[in-house]
Amino acid sequence: MTVQATVTDDSRETFDKFSPVDGRKLGTYEISTASDVEAAVARAREAAPRWRDLSLDQRFSYFDRIREIIRREGERYAQQISEDTGKPLVDSLMTELMSIPLFIDYYEKEAPKALKRRRLMPQLLFPGKTSYIEYFPKGVVGIISPWNFPFQLAVIPMISALIGGNTVVLKPSEVTPITGELIRELFEEASFPKGVVEVLQGDGSTGAALTGSDVDMIFFTGSVATGRKVMAAAAEKPIPVELELGGKDAMIVCEDAHLERAARAAVWGGFLNCGQMCVSVERLFVVESIYDEFVELVREEVARLRVGAPDEGSDMGPLTFSGQLGVVARHVEDAREKGATIAAGGKSKEGPGQFFEPTLVLDVTTDMEIYREETFGPVLPVIKVADDEEAIRMANDHKYGLTGSVWTGDKKRGIELASRMESGQTSVNDLVTSVGNPALPFGGVKQSGFGRYHGHEGLYSFMHQKAIMVSGDFMSVEPFWFPYAAKYPTVFRTFKGLLGGNMVTALKGFWDMIQMTRNRAGTGE
Ligand code: NDP
Repeated sequence: MTVQATVTDDSRETFDKFSPVDGRKLGTYEISTASDVEAAVARAREAAPRWRDLSLDQRFSYFDRIREIIRREGERYAQQISEDTGKPLVDSLMTELMSIPLFIDYYEKEAPKALKRRRLMPQLLFPGKTSYIEYFPKGVVGIISPWNFPFQLAVIPMISALIGGNTVVLKPSEVTPITGELIRELFEEASFPKGVVEVLQGDGSTGAALTGSDVDMIFFTGSVATGRKVMAAAAEKPIPVELELGGKDAMIVCEDAHLERAARAAVWGGFLNCGQMCVSVERLFVVESIYDEFVELVREEVARLRVGAPDEGSDMGPLTFSGQLGVVARHVEDAREKGATIAAGGKSKEGPGQFFEPTLVLDVTTDMEIYREETFGPVLPVIKVADDEEAIRMANDHKYGLTGSVWTGDKKRGIELASRMESGQTSVNDLVTSVGNPALPFGGVKQSGFGRYHGHEGLYSFMHQKAIMVSGDFMSVEPFWFPYAAKYPTVFRTFKGLLGGNMVTALKGFWDMIQMTRNRAGTGE
């Protein structure tokens, strides 16, 4: 067990955190109640106008401190995240921490451009008028984050929301409360003004209270099942939601791929973070002409993986969430029963901790759970296909569409296949790392969710757009204003001129309409 709820003497519910590596108890945490949520949202709302009124430079002085703390304390942070999740220290540094300063650097350059008021090109239909688009913050943003990358998947949306002038209430996962505390400490140490960032430890009930509270937007990362509940709660208000949900990502290995590179990538993409990634390789399509050679390379790579605790120089740790062990075992068993070949691993490891062997599954068919549902564990299912056309057809014939990859020596063909893949992000001869590119928008299609973060889009997600049109006041009237009497033939002539591309007729029509409006033509005045 990773977590277990208990009740203390003062009747405040708490939960215990256990180590995924050896089952030791690591701490006890209070569950924030609905009234805690209400109070936190009220503090965030009170702080919102002052935070919104700061200049971008002033806001970035706080993010500068975040960057500095992560640089200074990175090693300690990595150790605590690894203790919480069981992931290798390399992963904690590389996938949880490193991206934060990089995103701040990126946004420091890009946010002033992305968020400044923009003047649009004048439109013929609206002579003498100037149009602008500007952005203003949505207000108080509720962020609900998962346990698989508990630091990064909370802090990047938090920073993206805060840059635009929103205040934030975070509900981290109960599975990783040590990281939840670390995030609280980070923002406290960076001396953010009171109420600008609130962190509420708790369980699903805390998350539900947050979605039902007085927030202005919910940014949710997690499973499809919970995402549906979040969206239903948001619909009651209604408030905007962004959903970053699950995946069943396809990797397509074409005949002309660099097989050794692709094999190492498949194993990294399938077993990184013990396969607990929304962007894991969960369906590996291999063209039959290179299938045997490629699968042998993958098998050798899987055999080289070192599994163990974070401090043992391991490539892969235990599963972070105890409940995931059952899902992984069930998927592997279902595949075995339906005729799949377990070419490596296939079971939990003996002894303490939530370890599952790195598992390679061959002869996977579309009726297997391992093909249809997200496994979210250290399992790499391989599917033999006739050619890359069959691979792309199968890759797209699925309810999920988060990321994917195509492996080929022909980059042009690779980009063509990547464009045809129904996903939010697709790489050619690469995988997973595109998620860490701060300039690239990230998010899913189909049941993988909607909305984008990262890149300029990642700021706009947390902003309202406002359109402003300014008219010169040199004319006393406008062509479209009342009275309409006797105007119809002239409007019709103008309309035909505009649509037919006859600008002389159109402009003459506008001029006549202005004169008719000014003279109140046809009204007898
Ligand atoms: P869950 O959906 O179980 O939980 C996500 C968050 O929602 C947790 O903080 C959880 O709290 C909270 N929560 C639980 N019940 C409710 C509720 N009724 N209302 C509001 N919030 C609630 O997902 P997991 O944590 O198990 O994360 C794994 C899933 O996340 C996978 O499907 C994975 O693919 C997806 N994911 C998607 C990513 C993306 O960017 N698209 C990235 C990473 C993961 P608690 O944990 O305390 O119960």
